[in-house]
Amino acid sequence: ATPTALLVGTGRGAQLGILIKGPQVLENTRRADTAVLDKTGTVTTGRMTLNDVRTVAGVDPDELLRLAGALEAASEHPIGAAIAAAARERFGALAPVDGFANAAGLGVSGTVAGRRVAVGRASWLAERGLTPVAELDDAASAAEGEANTVVFVAWDGAVRGLCVVGDAVRATSADAIAELRTLGLRPVLLTGDNRAAAVVIARSVGIDESDVIAGVLPEGKVDAVRELQDSGRVVAMIGDGVNDAAALAQADLGLAMGTGTDAAIEAADLTLVRGDLSAAPDAIRLSRRTLRTIK
Ligand code: ADP
Ligand code: MG
Repeated sequence: ATPTALLVGTGRGAQLGILIKGPQVLENTRRADTAVLDKTGTVTTGRMTLNDVRTVAGVDPDELLRLAGALEAASEHPIGAAIAAAARERFGALAPVDGFANAAGLGVSGTVAGRRVAVGRASWLAERGLTPVAELDDAASAAEGEANTVVFVAWDGAVRGLCVVGDAVRATSADAIAELRTLGLRPVLLTGDNRAAAVVIARSVGIDESDVIAGVLPEGKVDAVRELQDSGRVVAMIGDGVNDAAALAQADLGLAMGTGTDAAIEAADLTLVRGDLSAAPDAIRLSRRTLRTIK
């Protein structure tokens, strides 16, 4: 291999907004036959907004938003940012949090205004004996069927309500995914979020329902990549979150969104600087062209 051609490849990558960790990365870019895409922040913008608040009978939605917003102000997750922003907009300053804890890919907890508050996914709260009433479950299912993410809010030993958050699919995602297919990569959607929302989003960007892996924990993302590899596939993983970092490292080729977290960027082989999925097929094409020049 001529180092000059590889350097030309990495230089051209920089022009296209693709940062390549080293010339050796290009070889794996050529072999990849599967593109595993994280949902939130990768296929979607990751800029979530609060769409609805529901509470059980006797609980004021404003009280729920105050408590959840104050707690989530300490979180770095896009779900937390959406809830905290909505609370700040409505109430101004938020109460301080004591003993904040973040369970990655599960939820957050802490003490706000003397109350032990937890916000997170249903299965995580259920492990603490916090199960929502049927009415809340129904509201959650309806919201998830419209591509939303639902997190439940509990305090003083009971689930008091839920927050519905959602974000938009990036304008360039569907075209980028179609191009990845043309280049011979089969797209797979991998998310910690609920299956219903993941399927709606997958359909809108041209990913088959059978290629949706949803509801996974952060460790589950690594396992999902490994299972695909064990079945003989060469995996390019594209992600942005702290919870994607291990899977990006496990993949044959890791691509991080430049708009993502430092952990993801450090774990990846390539960074798509603009945080635009259309740079992913550019990266694959560039490396194939570069390697052809060398051979
Ligand atoms: P994704 O794979 O879509 O990036 P994550 O693994 O980060 O999703 O999160 C998975 C799930 O964990 C979320 O859908 C939510 O239910 C829960 N969760 C994670 N962080 C938080 C948070 N700060 N507040 C509430 N719920 C959270
Ligand atoms: Mg993400």
